[in-house]
Amino acid sequence: MRDISLILMAAGDSTRFGRKVKKQWLRVGEKPLWEFAADRFYEFGKFDGSDGFAQVIIAAAPAETALIASLTDYTVISGGATRAESLANALCAVKTEFVLVSDAARALISRELVQRVIAHKGQADCVAPALASVDTLADRRGAVINRENTVRVQTPQLSRTAVLRSALAAKSGFSDESTLIAACNGSVLYVAGEDGAAKLTFGGELEALEPPSQTPLIGYGFDAHAFEAGKPCVLCGVKIDGADGFKAHSDGDAALHALIDAILGACGLGDIGQWFPDHDPHFKNADSAELLRTVISHINRFGFAVVSADITIMAEKPRLEPHKIAMRKEVARLLGVRCERVNIKATTTEKLGFVGRKEGAAVSAIAAVRYCND
Ligand code: MG
Repeated sequence: MRDISLILMAAGDSTRFGRKVKKQWLRVGEKPLWEFAADRFYEFGKFDGSDGFAQVIIAAAPAETALIASLTDYTVISGGATRAESLANALCAVKTEFVLVSDAARALISRELVQRVIAHKGQADCVAPALASVDTLADRRGAVINRENTVRVQTPQLSRTAVLRSALAAKSGFSDESTLIAACNGSVLYVAGEDGAAKLTFGGELEALEPPSQTPLIGYGFDAHAFEAGKPCVLCGVKIDGADGFKAHSDGDAALHALIDAILGACGLGDIGQWFPDHDPHFKNADSAELLRTVISHINRFGFAVVSADITIMAEKPRLEPHKIAMRKEVARLLGVRCERVNIKATTTEKLGFVGRKEGAAVSAIAAVRYCND
C-alpha cells in the first residue's frame, strides 16, 4: 500500500445540507466528520498485511486549511473554487503511483467496499464502485434510456496518479474521476458498489453516526480598555447614557470582546484578533454585538453551540448596578440562550491599579459551549 495515497475531499460549502453546521464539521462523538472519515479510511487501508496508505491528504476549504492543519497530523491542502480545482491542488502533494479519492461526506462507506476497489489496483486507469440502475431511466422528454447501459457511479475511486493529473489538466466539468478519465480515453473498471454508501447530503443518514459528544467545553476571555471622553459607552451591548466610552478600534465594548474570546477559547478557534484584526479598516467603530453574532454563526458552522456565559466587569465608573438586568437580557438575546444561562457581575478593584485610578475598565468572561449538529 506504500504505492497508494488517500485524498479526502472536505472543501465543499455544504450549500444543500440545510443545517447551520457545515457537513465536514458534523460531530461524530468528539471528531469532526473530516477526521472521522480520514481515520476510518486510514484503518481500511491496512489489510492483507499492508501498513496502510503512504499519505493521507485532506483537501480543505481555503478558509479552514490553517485550522484543520492545526488539528491533525495528516497532510492538509487548501482546496479551490470547484471540486476539480481542489482535487488538482491535492494531487500536487501525491508522490505515489496510485491515488484513492473519496468525499469526506461518504464517511459511512464499508471496509469491504474500500478494500474491493483497492484489490483491483492497476487493472484500469481508474477503478470505481458502481451500482446497476434499478429504477426506470428516462430523459427529460420521457424517452426511455436503456438501463442495461447505465450505472450509478460511487466513490472512492482508485486512479493512476499521472493519468488523473493529465485528465484534470485536459478537461473540466466532470463530477468524478472515472467519467473524466473515460472522457480522456483512459480505461475504467467498475466494481460492485454498495447501497449504504450514500453521501450525507440531506441529513437522513446521520442517525447511523455516533451523536455529538456531550462533554462540556469551557473557555476564558479577558479584555481591558482605557476610557475615552465623549465616546458613547457600550458594555454587554447596552448603551450607558452619560458615561465615557472606551478607546478602541471598534465601539470598545470590552465585555463583549472578553465574551467573544471566551467562546472562541471554548471552541479552540483562536482569538478575537485573528477573526477581526484591529488594523482592518472594515472593523473601524465596529458594533461588537455584530461581531458576536458573526462569531456565533462561525462556531455554529464548526459544530458548536453556546451553553452559558459568566461575565465579570471590573470598573470604578460608571455605576453598573442599574444596567445589569438589561445587560443579561441583551447578552442572552445575542447568544440565543435563556437568561438563566447568562450572568453579569460588576466589581471594583478597591482603588487598585488602572481600574482603581479610573483610567479604564477590565472584563473577564467564561463561556461554556457544546458540540452541536443542528
Ligand atoms: Mg477589546
